[in-house]
Amino acid sequence: MNLADLHTHTTASDGLHRPADNVRMAREAGLAAIAITDHDTVAGIGEARDAGTRYGVAVVPGVEISTASDGQDIHVLGYYVDERDETFLARLAKLRGVRERRNEAIVARLNELGIPLTMAQVMDAAGDGRGADETIGRPHIAEALVRAGAAANVQEAFDRLLAEGRPAYVLPPRISPEQAIAWIHEAGGTAIIAHPGLYDRDDLVASLLAQAGADGLEAYHSDHSEADAARYRAMAEAHGKLVTGGSDFHGARKGKIYHGSIGSRTVDAAVLVALQGK
Ligand code: AMP
Ligand code: FE
Ligand code: FE
Ligand code: ZN
Repeated sequence: MNLADLHTHTTASDGLHRPADNVRMAREAGLAAIAITDHDTVAGIGEARDAGTRYGVAVVPGVEISTASDGQDIHVLGYYVDERDETFLARLAKLRGVRERRNEAIVARLNELGIPLTMAQVMDAAGDGRGADETIGRPHIAEALVRAGAAANVQEAFDRLLAEGRPAYVLPPRISPEQAIAWIHEAGGTAIIAHPGLYDRDDLVASLLAQAGADGLEAYHSDHSEADAARYRAMAEAHGKLVTGGSDFHGARKGKIYHGSIGSRTVDAAVLVALQGK
């Protein structure tokens, strides 16, 4: 079987490896295809595509859009959107502006909690040479906290400060999942609900398939149990929708792999035809 890992992050958002490195790792893992799905940006796709040509790996252009429903973060994956669609690009740019202000609000909240962190330190932790269309996220804030000696490690920074429900968590004004699905469709792409098992909202997930026009579910994901995978596969199939999967690879930091390694969750690459044809 030809395998595809349809969910990976790069340095264009909060991944630790360059787009070309992800493609190289996909080849090393024996994959036929890999998707680049950075948070709210398509900035990594060009480099990945060039690497795909060199390594003989099909690169699926993707994006993972941050949305919210009733205060719950919901991630919507968009595949094969037209990257030259100016309307879509402007919409992503606006989401990055919201994200930027959210990051500043998190830093302000940390300061109120007596932790003297600055946005400059966050930018530093994210690495230099970042493009304006690349996104900064909470993992970078966590890394900055570690470097400043204010957290033992990235996970501890999330658990104590940055995760949902913790004191420095800030939910910015987000678009709805329905809105993201519509934007992806308007730009010619296919919309898949990312890691539905992380929301504890199966009612909402089902309605996104039945009413909002989502094209499928990411049933296979590093943070899903086998029972989750079976449940979401069945849910997608019951609605006549697509079943996808991916590792959500973010890279390895000090020996710890966040989410999964490239190729640890895959689907048959035959699904690429359906993702492209929607
Ligand atoms: P952001 O989009 O900036 O809010 O950051 C979301 C990212 O933070 C996710 O894609 C994960 O990479 C990471 N993340 C979210 N929650 C946690 C958590 N509880 N522990 C570790 N990493 C997390
Ligand atoms: Fe992430
Ligand atoms: Fe996600
Ligand atoms: Zn992701």
